Amino acid sequence: MNKSLIERGYIEVEDLKNDMNYPSADRFKRGPVAIIECLQDIPCDPCRDACPYGAIELDGLTERPRLHEDKCTGCGLCIAVCPGQAIFTVDRSGEDGFVTFPYEYLPLPEKGMRVMAVDRAGEPVCEAEVIKVMDAKKMNRTRLVTIRVPRERVDEVRFIQKIEAGE
Ligand code: SF4
Ligand code: SF4
Repeated sequence: MNKSLIERGYIEVEDLKNDMNYPSADRFKRGPVAIIECLQDIPCDPCRDACPYGAIELDGLTERPRLHEDKCTGCGLCIAVCPGQAIFTVDRSGEDGFVTFPYEYLPLPEKGMRVMAVDRAGEPVCEAEVIKVMDAKKMNRTRLVTIRVPRERVDEVRFIQKIEAGE
């Protein structure tokens, strides 16, 4: 199992870039794509069934999911069903970067809100703007939040600081 995952509970950006599921440079140029940060062999598979494009393959229930980057549209439907909150989508095909992540707190952030983007350890990375809050209730209670960040930060940013009521 990944060393930083065992010691700290999250993976490092370098581990992510060396992982089999990290999309190719060519795929990143073509728009949003899923980043699957599921590094353990655990009995779990809802991400595969949630993908309408067959972009996630799982050979057996305890195998790691494998992303077929050419089939992935970056729709984000797999994000909401992942119990480990281990799937994100990123888009760094243009001048700005965009990160979409699962959000299960209240109050919800709102479109246009300025927020602080944080990394996997909850440490501040940069300011960000909320672009979209998608209600994925049809699958469960998880919302998908998309933020705009500098494109070189999309591998670091994975969440935003907690939003206070009335903020
Ligand atoms: S982002 Fe959409 S297309 Fe890509 S793996 Fe997830 S569900 Fe499939
Ligand atoms: S749903 Fe999430 S935790 Fe389960 S196999 Fe897929 S990526 Fe891993």
